[in-house]
Order: sequence, then C-alpha cells, then structure tokens
Amino acid sequence: MTSNNPQTREWQALSSDHHLAPFSDFKQLKEKGPRIITSAKGVYLWDSEGNKILDGMAGLWCVAIGYGRDELADAASKQMRELPYYNLFFQTAHPPVLELAKVIADVAPEGMNHVFFTGSGSEGNDTMLRMVRHYWAIKGQPKKKVIISRKNGYHGSTVAGASLGGMTYMHEQGDLPIPGIVHIAQPYWFGEGGDMTPNEFGIWAANQLEEKILEVGVDNVGAFIAEPIQGAGGVIIPPDSYWPRIKEILAKYDILFVADEVICGFGRTGEWFGTDFYDLKPHMMTIAKGLTSGYIPMGGLIVHDDVVEVLNEGGDFNHGFTYSGHPVAAAVALENIRILRDEKIVERVRTETAPYLQKRLRELSDHPLVGEVRGVGLLGAIELVQDKATRKRYEGRGVGMICRTFCFENGLIMRAVGDTMIIAPPLVITPAEIDELVTKARKCLDLTLSALQG
Ligand SMILES: *Cc1c(COP(=O)(O)O)cnc(C)c1O
Repeated sequence: MTSNNPQTREWQALSSDHHLAPFSDFKQLKEKGPRIITSAKGVYLWDSEGNKILDGMAGLWCVAIGYGRDELADAASKQMRELPYYNLFFQTAHPPVLELAKVIADVAPEGMNHVFFTGSGSEGNDTMLRMVRHYWAIKGQPKKKVIISRKNGYHGSTVAGASLGGMTYMHEQGDLPIPGIVHIAQPYWFGEGGDMTPNEFGIWAANQLEEKILEVGVDNVGAFIAEPIQGAGGVIIPPDSYWPRIKEILAKYDILFVADEVICGFGRTGEWFGTDFYDLKPHMMTIAKGLTSGYIPMGGLIVHDDVVEVLNEGGDFNHGFTYSGHPVAAAVALENIRILRDEKIVERVRTETAPYLQKRLRELSDHPLVGEVRGVGLLGAIELVQDKATRKRYEGRGVGMICRTFCFENGLIMRAVGDTMIIAPPLVITPAEIDELVTKARKCLDLTLSALQG
C-alpha cells in the first residue's frame, strides 16, 4: 500500500512493536501493517490515508444505529460525571442498570423479564453455562450438565465461549472444548446438504439434536444453545424446515433452550430478536453487540421468569464481573435503545431496507462466480463457486480473501468466511447506500473473476 500520510507508517510501527491483535497472524501483521481506521460517520469509515469506506459489516456486526451519534457520547459523558462506576455486588445497584433491565424486558419476548449483565457476549455465554448447571442443581438434577451446541457456531472467545462454539480452528488451540460440551451438525445446506433438498436437509440437521440428546441421555443434558442465524460461521440461514423441527424436539425433552442473540438481537432481522423472527421460545438469550451499537462494551443474559423462579430458591449465585452492568455502559445502552425505538429503526429494517437489500443482493445471483445469495433482514451471504450447478469451489485459491481485498481497495468492507462473502451493514443504511454497496460488490466480484482467470 502506498502511503500519503507519514503518520500511517508511525502507527503501523507502533502496531509491530507493541500490539498483539485479536484473530490475527502476529508475524504476518507485523510485516504488512494494519489499515488504520481514524474516524466514522453513519455507515462510512475513513482510514489514515483519507479513503472513505462503506462499512458493510457494521464494525463487527454491532454498530446498529451507525457511527457518530452524539447522543451516545453525551449519555456517557453525563453518566461519567454523575457516577462513573459502582458495582452491583453485595446488594447495591444504581439507576442506569435498573432502567436498562426494564427497557430490555420491554423489547424482549414475553416472559423474558430479567437480565444478568456482563462485559461481552463471551462473558454472557460463560454466565449461561454456569447458570444452566446451577439451575439443574437447584432442581435436584445436578447431572444435567451437558450443553449441546453446533459445529461452526460462534459463541465467543473465552474458554467456555470457544468451547461452546464449533470452530475447530479455535478448539485446536488450548485443548478445547472443555468437558461437558458436545456439538451437532449445522443447518448449512449450501455447504453440506449434498443431494438432499434444503428442507430434507433441514429436517436431517434438526434430527441430530434428538439423536445427541438420546446418545448423551436426557438426564445428562442441561441445554441446547444456538444462534437463530449463524453469523461468524458464514450467515447461515437454516432451511425453513429446521426451526419448526427443533422446536418439536425441544418440546419433547426437558432441557433448556438458549438463543445466542448477540448478532440477531436488537433489530438485525427486522424483528427485535431472532427468536421473534423464527418464533422460538428460549429460556435464555445472550446479548451484546447491538445492545450498545458497539459504542462501549456490554453484554448480558436475558432469563425467562420460569428459570428465575427456580434460581430464586438457590441461594447465592457465585458469579459476576467487576463491570457487570457498568453504569456508563448502561447509560449508553439506554440511549441506544431509545434511538432504536424513537426512530423506528427496527420497523424500517423490516418494512423498507431489509426487503430492498435482499432484492438487490439477489441480483448478484446471475454473476458467474456466485453459487448462492441468501439473507434475512440486514444479513447477507454470497457464496463464491467455480461451478454453480454442482456448488464446487475453487479449491485452495483463497477466493474469499481475494474478493475481500478488492472490496477494501474499492471502498467496501465485506467479510470473507472461507469462500463466503458476508455483509451486515448498520441498521440505518439507506436505499441509496444499499445501491452503492451492491454496485461495489458486483465490481469486486468482476475483479475477483478476472484475477482467477488471469
Ligand atoms: C460476537 C459473538 C459472541 C461473542 O461476543 P464478544 O462480545 O466478542 O465476547 C458470541 N456470540 C455470537 C453469536 C457472536 O456473534
């Protein structure tokens, strides 16, 4: 990359000398140097070279209301001056966390009326694991410890989060998963459906849950955790047959259902939660990301009244974080949810921008490199293939990364998961910005195809 700004080099040197970046090859990053993002507004980012980039990923799925909303900065500043910190341990509380818990209960599905706050989505899932086991112990069934999760699911990066997740490349580092977590197949028809129709495959994938429950023994299973739509795994939209069959299985066996709503929550699907979109009835929901639009770290676990009733009989829950329900984060989350509600952003996604994005994205299906375009709400995936009919990939060519690099160079952020390009723009994206996104995406697909042929 040629540089117009000498400061870029200085920052990159600081990165090489001192910074260890998440999910990165340290040595490679040291040689290449990171792109330095310096400011943002709406759906756009600017880097240190002055390039303007359309952020098709809302940061890491989180900047729901878009960048640059002064109201959130003001809410943080006001709260910092009034009460910058106090903890919630040992029977104290403060107004912002209590008001936030109420507002979350207002937008959450019926019966989901209690919130345990954490600093992140990963911590939310760690909390879930301990709370599920505590719940069953209180009910006199301490053997119900096993959590069933799915291959290629993503539930965070702490030891429990990475274990619950089904990313094998994460398990390989650090001897994971920890005991008591088992994984079943994911409902990824395009990648794994073989000769089955999508709905046949959806039933097959859902039936894996029942088989696993029977294999482990229902007396040993505490919960099933799943993202309504897998995000980091590649925006995997389950076939229509999948969730109804999972619901039948969950109704049959006495286990808890945990929806990891870290991506789907707070409007991503055009409903407040992914469980609203699919009419799931979870006992717990993990939240983070859209909760604060990423302006400040915060996560949590929303817990159903029925579960809380049991937990109330269990004495102390010996779990919590210094920053559980941090007052500044709570004040920012309150303001974020106020904006989502007052500006009817979720309704606009449902009625206007999601249908428009989905229509425009599907126009890319005619591209020779595209095997499938799928999406729901403001989530989308484009599968890059060598042969559309057989869904055959360009093996070993790193097509996704080639396309991602062209996107960056042409002012668009799309993420590559293998050879699947994914998008999740801010919920405030306009139809004109969607047009720009799709136009740039097509151009980058063209450039990728030429590079492969060249
Ligand atoms: C990002 C994510 C997490 C982890 O959240 P962190 O805040 O990064 O710990 C958990 N679950 C899902 C579905 C996610 O997308």
